[in-house]
Amino acid sequence: MNTRAPAEPEVREFTAEVVDVDADDRTVTLDQTYFYAESGGQPADTGTIDGIRVVDVQDDGEVVRHTLAEEPGPGFEAGETVTGVVDDDFRTYCMRAHTASHLLYGAGRRLLEDLGYGGFDISEEKVRVDFTTTTDIDDETLVELERLTNRAVWESRDVSWYELPTEEATAREDVAFNTKTEEGVMAGADTVRIVEVDGWDVAACGGTHVSNTREIGPVTVLDRSNPGEGLTRVEFAVGPDGIDRRAKQHAALRETAAELETNTGELATTAASLRSERDDLEARVRELEQSALSNALSDFETVDKAATWRLGVLVDADPNDAGDAAKDAVDDDGVIVAVGDGERPFVVVAAGPDSGVNAGDVVDDVTDAFGGGGGGGPPFGQGGGLDASPEDVLDYVREWEPSD
Ligand SMILES: [Zn+2]
Repeated sequence: MNTRAPAEPEVREFTAEVVDVDADDRTVTLDQTYFYAESGGQPADTGTIDGIRVVDVQDDGEVVRHTLAEEPGPGFEAGETVTGVVDDDFRTYCMRAHTASHLLYGAGRRLLEDLGYGGFDISEEKVRVDFTTTTDIDDETLVELERLTNRAVWESRDVSWYELPTEEATAREDVAFNTKTEEGVMAGADTVRIVEVDGWDVAACGGTHVSNTREIGPVTVLDRSNPGEGLTRVEFAVGPDGIDRRAKQHAALRETAAELETNTGELATTAASLRSERDDLEARVRELEQSALSNALSDFETVDKAATWRLGVLVDADPNDAGDAAKDAVDDDGVIVAVGDGERPFVVVAAGPDSGVNAGDVVDDVTDAFGGGGGGGPPFGQGGGLDASPEDVLDYVREWEPSD
């Protein structure tokens, strides 16, 4: 005995005779049931049998077992008549959500290449459909999938279900099979159940569906991801969650547009032009920073040793920028030493090829004297974390001579 839910999804209340009771695991089997047993990504129905809550429904292929929240009492002996009530809210939600997944797949038929069905799952918050497709479901395609799905809802298409001989169904190219979940159901079966959304989609499916697409209401696509195995997952919501999500997005869009002093239709253009403006400004600021640095370097004091040295303190400079500026500014026969003004100053040394000075040696001696770390080679050296004031470092460099 299978559940009658897929064939008669509108039934919410029924009477049935108890066939078997297992008090230990609180399960009841009936001579007929309209409770949907968990299958193919659709969760089990909830509800009550003779007032006791049903917490799970499973079909092992032979019988449907209803698991009750409490131990079944005396009214549940075999042969007794009981009343089953299927929770209307949850079942209706599942019917709408499940049928919406067929509409989404139908939309995929119109947009995606080499389309296949990779899986499906309904939870209380959202529905996921896994596609196999060679098409990249980019933002534009995702939005188009949502738009076509909602159009199909609005078009009020009839939904019907019927049995087909398995051979005939598998031979038909227009029937979508969920290979993962339908395999078990179809194994050894002479017929397969077909769910058809008029003019939109045909699929092998054992779930519960609404009889017209307009019953689904608005469908809100939530997200897209790649769960692996070549699948693209699209998640959506129907009902209040989807509606609330859409309202939030609408509010965010308007808030952003107001913040950018534009309208929602112009948001992307405005954002793009702001970004390019920002990039230009960043480049300009960078240029100004660099020219400020080279100005600062040209104001450094000059100390004549074997070569001409220029020394000074840089205020608020980044060590790498300072290094670059020093390398640019140094003469072939000169040396530049710049010290940062921080609490643990840095030092950069650039030495021209004809200066006779090894910049790395200067940095080594400075870090030997004041701690910190760093190093370098003949043309350039850099150290940081010095435990001294910038002036002390400069005094030291002023007196510095090569050791040999
Ligand atoms: Zn279905």
